[in-house]
This record gives sequence, C-alpha cells and structure tokens, in this order.
Amino acid sequence: HEPPRQQSVAPDPHPPFDVLAVRRDFPILTERVNGRPLIWLDNAATTQKPHAVIDRLVEFYSHENSNIHRAAHELAARATDAYEHARRTVARFLGAGGAEEIVFVRGTTEAINLVANAWGNGHVRAGDEIVISHLEHHANIVPWQLLAERTGAVIKVIPVDESGQILLEEYAALLSERTRLVSVTQVSNALGTVVPVKQVIELGHRAGARVLIDAAQSAPHMPTNVTALDADFLAFSGHKLFGPTGIGVLYGKREALEEMAPWEGGGNMIVDVTLERSVFQPPPGRFEAGTGNIADAVGLAAAIEYVERIGLPGIAAYEHTLVEHATEGLRRIPGLRLIGTAPEKAGIVSFVLDGHQPAEVGTELNRHGIAVRAGHHCAQPILRRFGLEATVRPSFAFYNTHDEVDALIAAVRQLSAGGR
Ligand code: PLP
Repeated sequence: HEPPRQQSVAPDPHPPFDVLAVRRDFPILTERVNGRPLIWLDNAATTQKPHAVIDRLVEFYSHENSNIHRAAHELAARATDAYEHARRTVARFLGAGGAEEIVFVRGTTEAINLVANAWGNGHVRAGDEIVISHLEHHANIVPWQLLAERTGAVIKVIPVDESGQILLEEYAALLSERTRLVSVTQVSNALGTVVPVKQVIELGHRAGARVLIDAAQSAPHMPTNVTALDADFLAFSGHKLFGPTGIGVLYGKREALEEMAPWEGGGNMIVDVTLERSVFQPPPGRFEAGTGNIADAVGLAAAIEYVERIGLPGIAAYEHTLVEHATEGLRRIPGLRLIGTAPEKAGIVSFVLDGHQPAEVGTELNRHGIAVRAGHHCAQPILRRFGLEATVRPSFAFYNTHDEVDALIAAVRQLSAGGR
C-alpha cells in the first residue's frame, strides 16, 4: 500500500482572521439583550474585556494586592513588580524610548489635562497659540480653553473638508512662531477619519511647537509607534483598548516630561519633604501623586499583551473590511446620509436617517440587541460643522462579524422603510 502523502502546503502568510475564535475570548459577547444576541457596536465608547484581562485582575487581587513602593514586604514587591511590568509593556507597545516616558493616568482626558496644566502653565504665555483641529473630542478642546483662559493664549483651529479630513495647507498656514503646542486626534471619534498625524507632527516641529496626539481611537485599531511618529506627547485610554476603565496613559518624550513641573502633589511623587519645601521624583513618578490605579494598570498590560498576540496589523485589516461592508450597506438605504467620507477611516461609521432622530434609531437598534451610540459623541463642534447636533455611530472591534454588520444594515433598512 501507498505511504501517506506528505503535507507540503506552505503556511499562509496572511491567515484569515479567526473572528469566531476571538469571540470566545470575550464572555460578554454571549449576552442576550431584548431576547436577541448582543451585537456590541459601541466600541468607540468602550470595548469589551477578554478573559485574559478579567483573569489577570482576579489573579492580582487574589495573590498580589498591595500598595506599591512603600513597604518592604512580599506583596508590596509583587504589586510593584506587576505595576512596573505594566509600564514596560506600555512602553514597548508604543515604541517609546523607555518606561520612564510612560505616565499612568485615569484616561485620555486626564492625560490631556495633565499636559495642559503641567506643561501648559510653564510654557504658554499671553498671545501664544495652541492649535487643535475641528475634529477634536471635547477632551482635546476644553483643557486648552481653560489654559487659554488662565494664560491669555489663543486657540487656532485646523478646518476640515466636506469628507471630514483636516486641511493640511490651512494647518501649515496657521502655524507661526507663536505656536507653542499642536494637539490633534489620530482618529476622529465622531466620523472615524484617520488624520495624517505624521505630517501634522513634522509641520508642528518645523514651527518649533510641541505636538500631542490623542490616540484614544487609534491605539486600539492600528499599530502606534511614538518614536517613528516623533510625537512629543500621546494619550490613550485603557478601556477603549480592551482593558479596564479608570486607567490610561500619557506618553511623554523624556525631554518634554523633564520640562514639566508637577501638577498634583502628594505621596509617591516626592523624594523628600520638609515643612518648608519638597523635592520631586523625576518623571514619571513626579506625575503620579497618591495611590494609583495599580490593579487596572496590571489589567491594561494584560489587554496589550492579548492584542499583541492577535496582532494589530491583522486587526486593522479585518476591521477595515467591517467598515467597508457597513459603509456599502448603509449608503444604499434610502434617506440615509453618511457623515465623514474620508478615504481613510478606522473603526467608525456615522450617519443620520431622514425622518428619524438619531436617538430614535438608537432605541430601535437596541430592540434588536444592537448597541450603538446616538448623540453628539462629545464632539459637538465637528457635528455642527456638518449642520448636525447628533448622529448614529456604529463602531467596530475585531470581535465583530460581518453577520452583525448585516443585522445592523437590515434593522436600519427596516426602520427607513417604515417598519419595526
Ligand atoms: N479623545 C477621543 C478621540 C475619544 O474618543 C475619547 C473618548 O471617547 C476621549 C478623548 C476621552 O477618553 P476618556 O473618556 O477615556 O478619557
């Protein structure tokens, strides 16, 4: 008889994304809502958590929980090791120069407020200029308005075109020797536009400004490398990256962090305190006053390691197919207007439907078990740029399927046709 034939098939260099295997990692995805399987399309607001993160939190609280740095006992050593491992994990994930460039904060909002206060108060004077874009989330608008009120600085805004992309030439024309800081998002949370941040940073640097990138909506969807970008600051939130709430990151270039005075004072951030004066830790400790969110930093590291195992390039490519599928299906629905049509988008589709308020569409989708955000998405200026107060915003993650996209399209189509 013949010997068994050797399998000589070369491994596929681009194996298909195994979304069903990935889904098994997320316990909440088997929930039912209104008698239907949950379809979670509110990933831009927050993402669901894999077992790897949930289990890591249980492990930490079961075997390692302690305050960090202060005690000489075993659990303090375990907790400190886990926390500092988390910092190194984030540094590697972002391609930072070292762990000392990673400050743990509550989220993107706190990261931007930290820069606006600790950097802004020392470097921005009356008449200086801060440049943001029309696309920004309120978290990247309000802290600069507060800084401008404190200092007399002026905010300049990069306009966007009809597709929702920033106008680079207009940006270049806004820059001047008075520009101290440029702060822009890498992905618009309202429209999904991917902003060419590398060029934004290059032009900002040519004008002598520091540049902050709001990576809240990009870090979960595409590889981020702060060194390749040459970003001075970059912020993201753990909860949008499959990690816990209440933990986020401010990356700061070493020399940028070193030129910042502390913002909050208290324990941990000092080397020595007398009743007259205090000596502060170098960065990043200087910016982490009080007991931090230790367990959730550890959980964030587990989320990053999980995402790295799946691989961001594969995630980005797969999510791109979801966004294209949703765009193609939705645009064919009578009376539906897509908002944000830039060629490069990540993870997000925004639309309005004639004769139906966004809130009504959201409620109707919820009846089908489909979770989307309907509202202003904390980005009122960009919606008003398109004459709107609210949109419906399905947003995708790598655990979403094309069947779920079809269910979304079918439910919206039914509503547009007058059915329920
Ligand atoms: N920036 C962008 C682009 C966002 O999408 C968000 C959250 O929706 C934020 C900032 C604020 O993030 P957080 O609420 O986690 O601080």
